[in-house]
Amino acid sequence: MLLSTLFSLTLTLAGSVTSVSAATIPDTDYDFIVVGGGPAGLSVASGLSRVRRKTALFDSHQYRNDPTREMHDVIGNDGTPPAEFRAAARAQISRYPTASFIDLAVTEITPLSDSNNTLTSFSVKSANGTTYTSRKVVLATGLVDVLPDTPGVREYFGKGIFWCPWCDGYEHRDQPFGILGTLPHIVSSVTEISTLNTDVIAFVNGSYTDDQVSTLQDSYPDWKAQIEAFNVQIDNRTITSIKRIQDGGEVTNEAGDAQIDVFEVQFTEGEPVIRNAFLTNFQTAQRSDLPSELGLKMIDGKIDTTNYSGMRTSLAGVFAVGDANSDGSTNVPHAMFSGKRAAVYGHVELAREEMATAINKRSLSTRALTKEAERAMGDELERIWERIKA
Ligand SMILES: Cc1cc2nc3c(=O)[nH]c(=O)nc-3n(C[C@H](O)[C@H](O)[C@H](O)COP(=O)(O)OP(=O)(O)OC[C@H]3O[C@@H](n4cnc5c(N)ncnc54)[C@H](O)[C@@H]3O)c2cc1C
Repeated sequence: MLLSTLFSLTLTLAGSVTSVSAATIPDTDYDFIVVGGGPAGLSVASGLSRVRRKTALFDSHQYRNDPTREMHDVIGNDGTPPAEFRAAARAQISRYPTASFIDLAVTEITPLSDSNNTLTSFSVKSANGTTYTSRKVVLATGLVDVLPDTPGVREYFGKGIFWCPWCDGYEHRDQPFGILGTLPHIVSSVTEISTLNTDVIAFVNGSYTDDQVSTLQDSYPDWKAQIEAFNVQIDNRTITSIKRIQDGGEVTNEAGDAQIDVFEVQFTEGEPVIRNAFLTNFQTAQRSDLPSELGLKMIDGKIDTTNYSGMRTSLAGVFAVGDANSDGSTNVPHAMFSGKRAAVYGHVELAREEMATAINKRSLSTRALTKEAERAMGDELERIWERIKA
């Protein structure tokens, strides 16, 4: 499928029209290397396989939603365990002869082309020391939740202690509920669960201080009145542990659509408190060092794809999808959407390079390239996405 080369060409993706210099279509092992086997990476691999792009997907098997019992709000897969979802996706993608899966971590990515030459290629080293080459790289490396050391939080995260109401809230509706986090996050958490829970205690773990009050006051001048209106109590005691008394994975309602966990929150002083579930407000970080090692531009800890079209990053030939990118959305539907988008833009980018090289075209417009990808993707979708983000 790769065209061997014939002529020379340099594309400058940052500009609208490119210049020409000596270059050939690089002779690589793969068209694309995808790093990450969560929903984002799998979606990229699916899109590329359907157009017979030779693709290798590397997977170190550290998935963000691994701790959860079931995946929700993914239409057609509501309630599917994440591992089952990934296995089905892999089985389907494996039917395409140009797709391969390599179950190893990627430890190093080295651009082989110089910065003026957008007929990019990369050397990718895996954990066992083998190197592979590809023309483009897609990072689908995800995020990691930075959880506190408080005993119980890590153990029960995703199983009664959760961060996303859409993912797990419905299964804990109408139950005595807790919010875990610092004071400034209370109002947004209450807003998110206001249709699910009415008996709510915010455990702010000693963060009810003058400083934190003034931070909260800046964002929500009426915060006190708002949380009183929703009947939310604040408990400022220091938490020592969260102990599970009952496992909602085993105890459910008759219909099976409510999980009945029971937890005891223990403090440095005073009586413990019983709650059935908690919404958390903890930080996230990039799962992988590859984005920083490649020197990619970041926005608030996420790989900047906001300032580049088609899930591209600040480095030519590198795309970023899913939780790791700056799209502003961290859920499975977004991971799949962004993966599909990178597959479309990436494929069109390669095809245009191949066409231009084959006919010795002396210049190639990035605008044309973007338009072609948008046509393939449907630019209506682009406009809807911009509206949703606004
Ligand atoms: C507890 C919990 C429950 C959730 N439940 C839901 C839900 O019900 N519905 C929903 O829509 N969203 C849910 N989410 C969010 C969802 O998990 C993420 O949005 C989604 O997993 C993002 O997909 P991703 O492919 O970007 O990243 P991930 O799924 O995290 O995948 C990252 C991939 O990159 C790989 N990787 C990283 N570095 C390397 C490397 N150097 N080499 C090779 N591979 C590497 C990892 O091994 C992994 O395969 C939940 C999140 C959590 C924490």
